[in-house]
This record gives sequence, C-alpha cells and structure tokens, in this order.
Amino acid sequence: MRKFILTAVMWGIAASGLASETIEWGYNENNAPEHWGALSPNYKMCDLGKQQSPINITQAIETETKQKIKIDYKVSPHDVVFNGHTVQVNTQDKSDYLILDQQKYFLQQFHFHTPSENQIQGKSFPLELHFVNQDAQGKLTVLAVMFVLGHENSEWNKFWSDLSNKENDNKVLSHQINLDKLLPKKREYYRTLGSLTTPPCTEGVHWIIFEQPLTISNTQLSELKALLHHHANNRPIQPQNGRLVIED
Ligand SMILES: [Zn+2]
Repeated sequence: MRKFILTAVMWGIAASGLASETIEWGYNENNAPEHWGALSPNYKMCDLGKQQSPINITQAIETETKQKIKIDYKVSPHDVVFNGHTVQVNTQDKSDYLILDQQKYFLQQFHFHTPSENQIQGKSFPLELHFVNQDAQGKLTVLAVMFVLGHENSEWNKFWSDLSNKENDNKVLSHQINLDKLLPKKREYYRTLGSLTTPPCTEGVHWIIFEQPLTISNTQLSELKALLHHHANNRPIQPQNGRLVIED
C-alpha cells in the first residue's frame, strides 16, 4: 500500500513536471512547425488538417461574376506588441471592417512574417503582412500583403517607434496609421480556403492574397529580423489537397 502511494505521488510529481515543461510553439528546433501537432492536443489540426495554410499558388481560376471584396479600414489601430512570435498591431473598437460574400468581418489585428508564408508561382517574398478579420460568428478572413525590398513604407515607422522589445509589453500607438497605405493600390487577389498558419491551425479561414506587392526598406526589414534574433517566423508550404484558388 505504502509503495502504491509513493508511486502515485511520484507519478503526480512527474505529471506536473511534464505540464510545467510544455513546450511553447515557435520556429526553433524543438518547437518548429513540424512539431506543432505533437506539442498539444489542441494543436492536432496542424498535423491532421487537410486545408492548411500557407500554400504555393500555381494555378488559379479567373472569375468575373463574383462580388469583389470591399475593404473599409478608416480608423487607426490602438496598440503594438512583440508577442514573442511576431510584431502585432491591435485594433480596439473593432470599427474597421471588410465585406466578403455579404458578410462583415471586423479587423482585429495585423502582424508580419519574414520571409513570406504564402508563395506565388513558387516565389517567396521577404515579408508578408496578415490582416486578421473576424465576423460575428467568429469566422476569419485573412488579407495577405507581400512586400519586396525598395522604398521605405511610410506607416511602418509609425508603429515601430512605439514598439517595446520586451515580450507582451503592449504600447499604445502615438501616431495615426493609414491602413490604406499597407494595402496595394491594385486590388487584384487570389482567394482560397485555408487555416491559421500558427497553432491551433484552425481551418475554415478565408484567405485573400493580394497580387501586387508593396515595398519596405532594407533598414525596416532588418529591424524586424533583429527583433526575431534572425530566426524566420514563417510556416512552410502545406499540401494543397485539391483546393481551388480563385483569381478575382
Ligand atoms: Zn500570420
């Protein structure tokens, strides 16, 4: 009996020890994307999902009848944070929105991946911006904007100047950000269904990937890379599994 209790106590310690050692997902050796599905039962879609993001867009079906997306981003976001995975700019009052298939999705936040996650015709870009939008039922639409190296982006410095390099240290923005300047003028895009590109890799996400890239200066991109200690924060390309891509 005594031995049983002792064993149980030891198991208890072992189990709690394991719990406290749960590995946080990331992009380094131990917690890299290929391990995400095994890190937590909540992340199983990262392994099992059949409509995962990002993808390499090689073929697209052109449409003319579909209603194009309508983006109405007028209000400047509220705060900026380095969350350990990326730099993220958050909205507060959820007044910026887009309309897709007569459904209203409100902008929650935008963040960055370097290099890009999605690829167009096998081409990777140095930077990809994701605008995450959510409707009243919790469904997501992500707008993806690619960046090439070139002229400085006018809006970047407006949130970077407030950014704290301490993790999860949100700072209220002191400048107005014009979100239109973080979107391409030409609004042609690829559209497909996919997932979150980070755990829990939830599916059913509408993806809008703009064809026209914006520019960012080498200095601006270097600021992000330095903050990430020169580790990439992009998930590799996922199998398309027969998913259609529409060009709109
Ligand atoms: Zn993202």
